[in-house]
Amino acid sequence: MNLERVIAALAPTDVVQRASVEISDLAYDTRAVGPGALFFCVPGERHDGHAFAREALERLREGNRRFASGQGNVARLSTRTRRAELVTRQEPFAIILGCSDSRVPAEHVFDQGLGDLFVIRVAGNIVAPSQIGSVEFAAERFGTRLVVVLGHSRCGAVVATLEELRRPCESQSRNLRSIVDRIRPSVEGLAKELRTDVDVCVSEAVRANVRASANQLRHGSELLEQLIEHDGLVIVGAEYSLETGVVDVFDPPRL
Ligand SMILES: [Zn+2]
Repeated sequence: MNLERVIAALAPTDVVQRASVEISDLAYDTRAVGPGALFFCVPGERHDGHAFAREALERLREGNRRFASGQGNVARLSTRTRRAELVTRQEPFAIILGCSDSRVPAEHVFDQGLGDLFVIRVAGNIVAPSQIGSVEFAAERFGTRLVVVLGHSRCGAVVATLEELRRPCESQSRNLRSIVDRIRPSVEGLAKELRTDVDVCVSEAVRANVRASANQLRHGSELLEQLIEHDGLVIVGAEYSLETGVVDVFDPPRL
């Protein structure tokens, strides 16, 4: 047992069950051995999961800094040796639900190689059952503990939804409409501002859509809810700037 991560404490007389304590910003599960007894606190699984998620987010941030400054090199991370290592296994450290836009390939944006990211891409980074199922699959099968919903500036799917709200178009295909319909509820209130300031409106709508997708993942699946509650799964929302190459993780504001 790692001594640095073990804390001994005197149990209050009424502590006879598992309990939780917060010490120096870290949370520990406690296993009380009886009233008034000395007991040990060991880090709970949930919080180990959180640590994995924080580490994963830091790796993504570092990779994005390399990419945005022109130092990214995906080829270096996707060698023949690496490919051979991954034939029978994978251990992606983050799940990315991003837009299909050709300018936002997740591996490039985060400067990651083969086997690093489990990527789901769909126009407008919307959440439908198949996206939830994909996230469930990776989180459960590979133990990945970070999910990033990655929207981007000037997202065409968001712009199309705002335009549709202002001028409904009957000729839109049923399939395309199914995407617009999923974006619509989170941006509806913003459509009337489109006439006054298009850029501000689109930018707010992009973030509203990312927040909505992140919340749908957080609350649209019993399995993901369980993983969040007990195993440290973390779901964040982020926006990639086409202009600067920088990814801003804004939901929640701090992890
Ligand atoms: Zn897009």
